[in-house]
Formats: sequence, C-alpha cells, structure tokens
Amino acid sequence: MLLNGKTGIVFGVANKRSLAWAIARRAAEEGARIALTYQGERVEENARELASTLTDPLVLQCDVSQDAQIESVFAQVREGFGGLDFVVHGVAFAQKEDLDGEYLTTSREGFQLAQEISVYSLTAIARHAAPLMEGRKGSILTLTYLGGERVIPRYNIMGVAKAALDMSVRYLANDLGPRGIRVNGLSAGPVRTLASAGISGFTIILEHMRNHAPLRRNVDQDEVADSALFLLSDMSRGVTGEILHVDSGYHIMGM
Ligand code: NAD
Repeated sequence: MLLNGKTGIVFGVANKRSLAWAIARRAAEEGARIALTYQGERVEENARELASTLTDPLVLQCDVSQDAQIESVFAQVREGFGGLDFVVHGVAFAQKEDLDGEYLTTSREGFQLAQEISVYSLTAIARHAAPLMEGRKGSILTLTYLGGERVIPRYNIMGVAKAALDMSVRYLANDLGPRGIRVNGLSAGPVRTLASAGISGFTIILEHMRNHAPLRRNVDQDEVADSALFLLSDMSRGVTGEILHVDSGYHIMGM
C-alpha cells in the first residue's frame, strides 16, 4: 500500500480512458483517498460514475480557466480532507485546428488558450495546493509529452505548451522544495484517449513508436499509472524537478 492514509486531488478525468483516471484508480487501490475533479457538465456523469467505484471520494467541478473554481475546489478539499499529500494534473487543451498542418499558422488566441489551460493551470493549482501540504512532504505530478522536447509533426502548439509545462515543473520544484514539496512530470508515450483523438495523424504516431521504441510496443494507461504511483509516493522522496519518460524508451532514439 504505497499511498496508505494519504489524500490526493486528481484533475483531468473525462472518461475511463483518461490517464488521470488510471492514476486515480491505482492510487485508491494503494490506499489513498481521492478528490476527483471534472471540467464541466459534459463529463460530469462519467466522472461521478467512475468515482462511485472509489471509497469515500470527493467529486468536484473545476474548469481550470476559472480562478474562482480552483479556489473553491481547494477550499472544499481543505474542509473534506484537512490536508493534501498529492496532486495529479492531467489537464490539457488546444483547438483542433491548431493540432494539424503547420505550427506557423497558430493564432494568438489559440496560442493563449493552449498555454492557459495546459500550462498556467499547473502553477495556479500548485499555489493553492502548497498550503494544504504543509508538513506532509507533498508530491505534485503533471503529465507531459516528448513533443515538448522534439518536433512531433502536427503536435504543434501542444508541443510548445509541453515545453513550457516541463520548465514550469522545474521552477515550481525550486520554489516548493524548501517547503518539502516535490514537483515532477511524467512524459507518457502516445495512448488512445479523448485528448489524443484530437491530434491529427495520431495513429501514425502510435505506429511509429511501436516500430522504433526499444521495447517495440506502445504503453498503456496502467503502465503510466504504475510509474505515477512511484512519483506520488515516498518511494521517490529524493526526486524533484524530474521528467520521467514512460514510453517504452522511445525518447532515447535518434531515428
Ligand atoms: P483526456 O482527454 O482524458 O484528459 C484531458 C483532460 O483535460 C480532460 O479530462 C478534460 O476535461 C480536461 N480539460 C480540458 N480543458 C479543461 C479545463 N478548462 N478545465 C479543466 N479540465 C480541462 O486525455 P489524456 O490523454 O488522458 O490527457 C491527460 C494529460 O496527459 C494531458 O496533459 C495530455 O497532454 C497528457 N498526455 C497524453 C498522452 C496521450 O497520448 N494520451 C501522452 C502524453 C501526455
């Protein structure tokens, strides 16, 4: 029981394929009490149905573009849990037209939207989480992708957002380290989810990884979740500011 007696909040559950859900489910199996947040009405039913399989969860709405909703969620977690041991940030968004063709054509509006939802939200969430983690050796984890380190055709604006997210992990790790709070990223290989369905040519990305990664296969939600447990638990107590690749080793390849 890696997370026995711990409490955590998970952002980014849309359905049973969500990486955030896989992590929430495994964290609960390892003894954690979970607060699950969902973006809005469109996914509320899914989130509530999934949460009903957990023991004594909190289920809260949080559109991360709304400061008041972030504030309210953490106030409810303080009331419900008293404190917080970990946060999972599994939220990202870009307009569909910005995930196709050339990066060159990205609009100002599309750029700002992707950065706000996919990057700034981690900082806003970390700022609200930190006071609840006082004296508890907290762990904050975000989900990132190789497209923030190298050019993955058509990942475009989301690649630029992931680069900023990876750097946010490092700056937040430095800010929160003196308070005993760790901040890490998990760089998952491509997995079929609602978000990845919006990336043009995603099947080609999956196939390329399967053919070229050292393990010669794709990864799945459970593999991502198991590595996340390491980063959320005391097993990784000496690790912060790190991006852990869970991608069958694909990131080491030059071609
Ligand atoms: P997903 O669609 O299940 O999750 C994305 C989540 O972001 C959804 O729950 C959605 O509701 C939420 N979201 C979007 N806008 C929001 C807003 N304004 N407020 C609150 N929530 C909002 O897909 P996923 O693939 O599980 O994505 C989770 C994370 O994993 C993302 O950061 C994604 O970039 C990252 N990731 C995914 C893959 C992959 O191949 N699936 C690979 C590497 C990294």
